[in-house]
Amino acid sequence: MADVLTCPVCGNNHLHLSDYSSMMVLGPQVALFAITCPTCSTRLSLLRPIPPALYEDVRCAATRVRAGMGEARA
Ligand SMILES: [Zn+2]
Repeated sequence: MADVLTCPVCGNNHLHLSDYSSMMVLGPQVALFAITCPTCSTRLSLLRPIPPALYEDVRCAATRVRAGMGEARA
């Protein structure tokens, strides 16, 4: 799956975008993910397409902060 990542430091290939510690949405389908490797504690920053599984998270967060990427404002 596209949202499975490999840690460049220790080679742990069981990292998932959905385990992000923070996500900065840069566009409708792209975000900068911060993920901490559970094996070596390296903090990774990755520019990745937002997995469809996270669309709902993004929509909810955008609506909460009125970012304009959630539902149209009335
Ligand atoms: Zn690692």
